[in-house]
Amino acid sequence: MDAPIDLRSDTVTRPTAAMRAAIAAAPVGDDQYGEDPTTNELQSRCTALLGHEAALWLPSGTMANQVALRVLTRPGDEVITSREAHAGWHEAGASAANAGVQLVEVGRGGLFGADEFVAAIKPRGLPVFPPTTLVEIENTHNRGGGVVFAQAEVERICTAAHERGIACYLDGARLWNAAVASGRSEAELAAPFDLVGVSFSKGLGAPGGSLLAGSRALIQAAERQRRMLGGAMRQNGLFAAAALHALDHHRERLAEDHRHARVLAEALAASPAVELDLATVQTNIVVFRLASGAPDAATLVARARERGVLLNAFAARTVRAVTHLDVSGAQVERAAAILSELLG
Ligand SMILES: *Cc1c(COP(=O)(O)O)cnc(C)c1O
Repeated sequence: MDAPIDLRSDTVTRPTAAMRAAIAAAPVGDDQYGEDPTTNELQSRCTALLGHEAALWLPSGTMANQVALRVLTRPGDEVITSREAHAGWHEAGASAANAGVQLVEVGRGGLFGADEFVAAIKPRGLPVFPPTTLVEIENTHNRGGGVVFAQAEVERICTAAHERGIACYLDGARLWNAAVASGRSEAELAAPFDLVGVSFSKGLGAPGGSLLAGSRALIQAAERQRRMLGGAMRQNGLFAAAALHALDHHRERLAEDHRHARVLAEALAASPAVELDLATVQTNIVVFRLASGAPDAATLVARARERGVLLNAFAARTVRAVTHLDVSGAQVERAAAILSELLG
């Protein structure tokens, strides 16, 4: 059989030959002395790209989120997030264990409005309530199906937050996809936030690495937290070189992944076994529900695997498919045909 068509995640991408060459050629030094030239170049490139004063490389998006929580909150604080935010669902309880915060989910489908945010803020001035000190927005939203947060709403939320002394964090692991889909620059999308996290290991196709951007003072605090969590590295330029290569060569092509997700989604939506709002398919992620009477998620994932298509079971009747660098247009067509056949 041919190699499987792996739609489980955009994290499964492997470095291309050109990326491996960039890694091999990278000048390196000890990053904890600030002497890794390639990491320094990546950080300064990203301050410009994200429109913030300073930036810090981190090994993973989870660590970026956790460091951000520790910089912007204190134990016992409350953080308002979208429903099914990565920080609450995919980080193994880290937000509670590392930062000691409790998360309150608002809105639907990964999105929420400024009114919902303001209504969820705990009243001030009474010692019984946990202080709401942070709002976190995920853009694009993973479990929401890769949806892009409306920028006008982002601005309203962050203005309302700052007026009340509440900090704003953007989990932008897939901010690159949001930029391509919305036609807005990463800097514009990142502007309303105090700290912004981005990943190089999702759609951009690097083997690892994320980054936080913000003011000099916040990034200095983040550097200490990174060290405390064990995430400070040494000759990190090997990873930074991959990220720089990805920024140069894999950013604009995300539009192709978005077109592929659309092809897949339209084929899936044509099946009566599938519940899928095509309006949610805005980037490279397709999250769909299997109707009652249809096979459940585990069954569909197993049957698809037998036919060489890998998917992710997100819940009992919810499945995720993600397009990326290592899936061609022809493979997407084939996956769509196989899934249509399996679903009837
Ligand atoms: C993948 C992801 C992360 C975490 O990234 P890792 O590198 O896997 O730790 C954070 N936020 C979102 C929205 C993600 O999709």
